[in-house]
Amino acid sequence: MVSIFPSYLAPLREALLGRAISRGLLELTVHDLRAWTHDVHQAVDDSPYGGGPGMVMRPQVWGDALDDVLAGPPARLVVPTPAGRPFTQALAREFSAEERLVFACGRYEGIDQRVLDDAARRVTVDEVSIGDYVLVGGEVAVLAIVEAVVRLLPGVLGNPRSAAEDSFSDGLLEGPAYTRPEVWRGLAVPDVLRSGNHALIDRWRRDRSLERTHRRRPDLLEALPADALDRADRAL
Ligand code: SAM
Repeated sequence: MVSIFPSYLAPLREALLGRAISRGLLELTVHDLRAWTHDVHQAVDDSPYGGGPGMVMRPQVWGDALDDVLAGPPARLVVPTPAGRPFTQALAREFSAEERLVFACGRYEGIDQRVLDDAARRVTVDEVSIGDYVLVGGEVAVLAIVEAVVRLLPGVLGNPRSAAEDSFSDGLLEGPAYTRPEVWRGLAVPDVLRSGNHALIDRWRRDRSLERTHRRRPDLLEALPADALDRADRAL
């Protein structure tokens, strides 16, 4: 990944991701964009053609950085931007199958478009948004994207069923979860979860998942393929 604030990406070495790196399940290199600057001030931005507020990141600096970083094993270039296509679990799964991903973190009003157009002559370029809001820079978006991708890599999660049963894996939101004690502040864990009847538990979880998706994200239900719901689902 390339950024003008490499230390912003330090949390990637914490917790689950940090363990995955130390176990050799992935490699992660953070480059300081300013290493490719050409002047004493190490400037990475300039005023926009056509006028307007803010600054745009210079193509020469980004071009040289990406020439170096994209050299070597085949890579896909991911550029976070609010104007990108929405980042989803499906895209996280797609990225998790790639040999190498290179992330270009924009700042200010973003990166000169020709940097992406030029890179697209050599590699696949994905402009990706993590939501309909505007952050200050691409680093936080990269943290979110990398975390979602790395937990899908084989061996990263202790129990691979966790990823398979998470929200979005079957196109639905996951239902509520409970742990001990059985009653807390007068609120009881649903009886069925303590019944030991796994068929009933699976049915209960599926129903809660459908209900929650219907209430909070009806768009997900509408997007399901026709054969994704069984008869019991439809009866709900
Ligand atoms: N002028 C840009 C626009 O309106 O599309 C916004 C630039 S934003 C202030 C600076 C940088 O933050 C972007 O280049 C991108 O790297 C990052 N960023 C901001 N919001 C984002 C989002 N929702 N998803 C992904 N990256 C985002």
